[in-house]
Amino acid sequence: MQFRDLKKQYQVLKNDIDAGIAEVLASAQFISGPQVKALEAQLAEYVGVKHCITCANGTDAITLAMMAWGVKEGDAVFVPDFTFFSSGECPAFEGATPVYVDVDERTFNLDPVKLEEAIIKVKEEGRYTPKAVVAVDLFGLPADYTRIRPVCEKYGLLLMEDAAQGFGGSINGKMACSFGDISTTSFFPAKPLGCYGDGGAVFTDNDEWAEYLRSICVHGKSANDKYNNIRIGMNSRLDTLQAAILMPKLKAFADYELDDVNKAADMYMEALKDAGLTLPLVPEGFRSSWAQFTTQLPADIVRADLQAALKAKGIPTMVYYPKPMHLQGAFEGTYSAEADCPVTERLCATVLSLPMHPYLTQEDVNEVVSAIKECLA
Ligand SMILES: *Cc1c(COP(=O)(O)O)cnc(C)c1O
Repeated sequence: MQFRDLKKQYQVLKNDIDAGIAEVLASAQFISGPQVKALEAQLAEYVGVKHCITCANGTDAITLAMMAWGVKEGDAVFVPDFTFFSSGECPAFEGATPVYVDVDERTFNLDPVKLEEAIIKVKEEGRYTPKAVVAVDLFGLPADYTRIRPVCEKYGLLLMEDAAQGFGGSINGKMACSFGDISTTSFFPAKPLGCYGDGGAVFTDNDEWAEYLRSICVHGKSANDKYNNIRIGMNSRLDTLQAAILMPKLKAFADYELDDVNKAADMYMEALKDAGLTLPLVPEGFRSSWAQFTTQLPADIVRADLQAALKAKGIPTMVYYPKPMHLQGAFEGTYSAEADCPVTERLCATVLSLPMHPYLTQEDVNEVVSAIKECLA
């Protein structure tokens, strides 16, 4: 069994993907071909945001957002402690200080109450200037923007949505990648919408930021002259082949994959309801795109042993994530390391992610669940 079955997906979409690739090869417009603009328009429409600017990967997308806001040394950027490294790495790359905030133990997402406490603490200490929040849609579930947005407004902070895992999720019908002042996503192959290499995108309704982002992802070019460089930027573009691959994948995602991955989640929820694991929670009105299906093991289970026993039965599992951000070696001795995040520490010790993708069948789910039940018995 595959953890995320990209081979199966390719079999299903092969004709359209191969045709898209062949078209790019024939045109030889490998950079900034017309497919890139077409994809950006489709992504912006799907998400319901005015501007989509594609770029080289999801990490660059966050860095581009930080650059557009002038995030710099002396700024505090609030980031959930339970996430992938990029969420805090990018503000730190710009010289700012990531302030790690604990998460909700059932949704795995930024805890709005702890966010406000952290902002107040940083303000009182007076060492760093609160500047922005990077909220993360972990495992496909949008963060609680209905409560996070008011906190940002109360303290005058910019809100970025890191939807690298969140693409396709929604809150009361409003799509992920539309909740931030700027939102970002990743097209890394294993993400909900993945390409066949690296890729990413930035979304915003703000015209000025959009123009700035288009400039800095191509060496700070001016709006209509590539060889007139008006600021320092970077080279961060989605190449034409990846755009051509993403268009049929976006169509399949919107037509049935998002529905099917939610059906797979329902199957797990039903089959695991009395297995003794803590299951992920999707609050009322929220929809997840299930980048991961992440359970929590009872404290007395040795996770590595369970993983080995499942692996022996042909079931791959993963630990997302084994280490809180504030304990990463990169932050040793810095203010970022001083975070108090007991929920994240407990989650890092107990989480286990199961095989998850839109092509998972009821038979697959049954196989995973009976293997888990046998191993736990
Ligand atoms: C994958 C991921 C990123 C980075 O995306 P890349 O395309 O791999 O650079 C950022 N944030 C989160 C939460 C992610 O899961």
